Amino acid sequence: MRPLARARRVVRWLLVAGLAWGAGTTFIERRRLRAPLPQGAPAARELGAATLKADLFALASPDMEGRAVGTPGGRKARAYVARRFAEIGLEPLGGGFVRPFRFVHTSIKALWRRDRPYRLAFDDAANVVGLVPGSAPDGRLLVVSSHYDHLGIRKGVLYPGADDDASGVAAMLALAAWTKAHPLHHGVLFVAFDAEELGLRGSQALLAEPGFPLKRIDVDLSLDMLSRPEGGGLVVAGTAPYPRFRPLVEAAARQASIPVRLGHDRPLWRSGRVDDWTTGSDHGSFAAAGVPFLYLGVEDHDDYHEPTDTPDRISPDYQAGVAEFALTLLKELDRI
Ligand SMILES: [Zn+2]
Repeated sequence: MRPLARARRVVRWLLVAGLAWGAGTTFIERRRLRAPLPQGAPAARELGAATLKADLFALASPDMEGRAVGTPGGRKARAYVARRFAEIGLEPLGGGFVRPFRFVHTSIKALWRRDRPYRLAFDDAANVVGLVPGSAPDGRLLVVSSHYDHLGIRKGVLYPGADDDASGVAAMLALAAWTKAHPLHHGVLFVAFDAEELGLRGSQALLAEPGFPLKRIDVDLSLDMLSRPEGGGLVVAGTAPYPRFRPLVEAAARQASIPVRLGHDRPLWRSGRVDDWTTGSDHGSFAAAGVPFLYLGVEDHDDYHEPTDTPDRISPDYQAGVAEFALTLLKELDRI
């Protein structure tokens, strides 16, 4: 066979093998996502459903103006979370609950859109961080993270971000109140990040200057979008890269009142056309810093990053079910 003909055959074979691999991995990952983990009798509810709903509605109210970083609405949301931390009785990590940071945002879209600058400095960003110390003297930590920022008001239109991520902040607050009343072996760091929507900036800032060795953190439990069952509902990402967490997630799912699926945590070459959510929220910064994560989030829905992500569209019962599952999982993670 002539060399050119042989090269063509090899290229054709590689193309066919690549397409077959892509189709096969997509099929396997979709099948994994379709099958919920086995469920048993749900655990007794331990979180205040009314408070969960009230926190979500407060953060997603027009008063908070969509909580964009560096805006009056964003500052209001920050003050709201800090006030709730104080009410719950969390401890600051030195200083106060509010940890300011600055960053410069580079907008690639500015190259073809005139309504935004290419580079924009944010001098008034801040994470809100509080601690419940652990009962064990070993100093090990768990992190429960969410983000309070969202898209704000754009061209006069409010983006309330009820599911994204008022729902995660509300669940984080509920877990904080429970943990304060029932301390775990681990110390638990509760975090509402700022500037997630501009590229995980808050989590990058915290991890750059945590104020303690990152090696102390066993896992980041990342909560982002927890209140919408339609479109597939809750997925836990992270058991593929960190298989030692899988039995803990399975144990928590057995006691859950909502279906729990695993997925969205394999790279492109292993999951085909199914999205990898590893960098989808602030847990991506933890993973990049070598800290394991488990991410809880619902499948994308029609209101994702739309003005219609309003509090009246969430399901409070579903929101409570997911938060209870997050609590069971937190208790399971305390065993590691
Ligand atoms: Zn989000």
